Amino acid sequence: ANSMLSALPTTIFTVMSALAVQHDAINLGQGFPDTEGPEDIVRAAADALLDHRNQYPPLTGLPELRAAVAESNRRFYGLTIDPASEVVVTSGATEALAASLAALVDPGDEVVLIEPLYDTYLPTIRLLGGIPRLVRLHEPDWTLDRAELAAAFGPRTKAILLNTPMNPTGKVFSREELGFIADLLVQHDAYAVCDEVYEHLVFAPERHVPLMTLPGMRERCLRIGSAGKSFSLTGWKVGYVTAPAPLAAIVAKAHQNLTFTTPPNLQRAVALGLSRDEAYFEELSSSLAARRDRLSAGLRRIGFAVLPCSGSYFVIADFRPLGFEGDATAFCRHITEHARVAAIPVPAFYDGGNGPQHLVRFAFCKREEVLDEAIHRLAALF
Ligand code: PMP
Ligand code: GLN
Repeated sequence: ANSMLSALPTTIFTVMSALAVQHDAINLGQGFPDTEGPEDIVRAAADALLDHRNQYPPLTGLPELRAAVAESNRRFYGLTIDPASEVVVTSGATEALAASLAALVDPGDEVVLIEPLYDTYLPTIRLLGGIPRLVRLHEPDWTLDRAELAAAFGPRTKAILLNTPMNPTGKVFSREELGFIADLLVQHDAYAVCDEVYEHLVFAPERHVPLMTLPGMRERCLRIGSAGKSFSLTGWKVGYVTAPAPLAAIVAKAHQNLTFTTPPNLQRAVALGLSRDEAYFEELSSSLAARRDRLSAGLRRIGFAVLPCSGSYFVIADFRPLGFEGDATAFCRHITEHARVAAIPVPAFYDGGNGPQHLVRFAFCKREEVLDEAIHRLAALF
């Protein structure tokens, strides 16, 4: 018999991007910027290729990148991280997630997850034999019901997988919410896999707080970042896990058996990127905030109800006011084919696709003129 993966559908990001290409649509589906990342970082990667940096780098990552990850943990969050034993470089946050979960989860262990959620989480946990315990946020404000979260924890809980800033909602968890989660982790002696790939894409006045910075959480968190998001180079697939040494050592065992290493030229360039000044990271988030505002205002003018968004590349819109007959997938197909604008149905972020059928996700990490053209096309359809 084939494994459980045979029944898994192709990811919605690939399906919608293919449909967008087929209809020559503006792709506000899959989250990737339509401008390149900083030229000096790209050039550093090219230079490293020509500079004999093409053989296996160290298993846990180039020392200069591990040092840069540790330093950015200090600079942004005041965390003291040992670059030699507490950082593991991976091939994207996707591998970091798989390696971190593999480090923690044995068959039968329960993992608490918050829906809507990123599409690799559930298959990865199920492949490990883990048992997902799902808790739903409540739209339209994506509130977390504390009693519901507490009820998902039990004697078999091994970890929570927490994504903040969150894809697809744009929710940034507050310090109070994180404090509640921290208390549950202590009470149940559990860990947290913290998917913080959008850590630098948070919009003022909101601030990103890593769970790892809360009292008692330093030893319980595996914190994941992604160069793809922090430097607008999503194809690069360079991720990093920051974790206490005993856990990082197990993550390294997983990494050793998944990919073993990550391309050295990209690692060298990302090390340079992480050393960029405050102004770079501020510009990254403020320019995205402006584009969030531009797309949201355009969607509202058309008649969508736009949900709040404090971070990430994404904004969610409720299309019920437009009077469309059909579910979220039908709506996304409809606008891709007839307005030539692609989006992602939000139910794709729920187990088995069982999510709110009136919500779709738009990516705003695009040039302003592209967002304007998308709004123009949608306005003509509705
Ligand atoms: N987690 C979340 C929440 C994401 O949105 C993404 C990017 N799509 C990833 C992980 C994967 O990041 P990477 O491309 O670095 O593997
Ligand atoms: N993270 C991106 C998104 O949510 C897509 C990543 C992918 O295509 N796998 O759109």
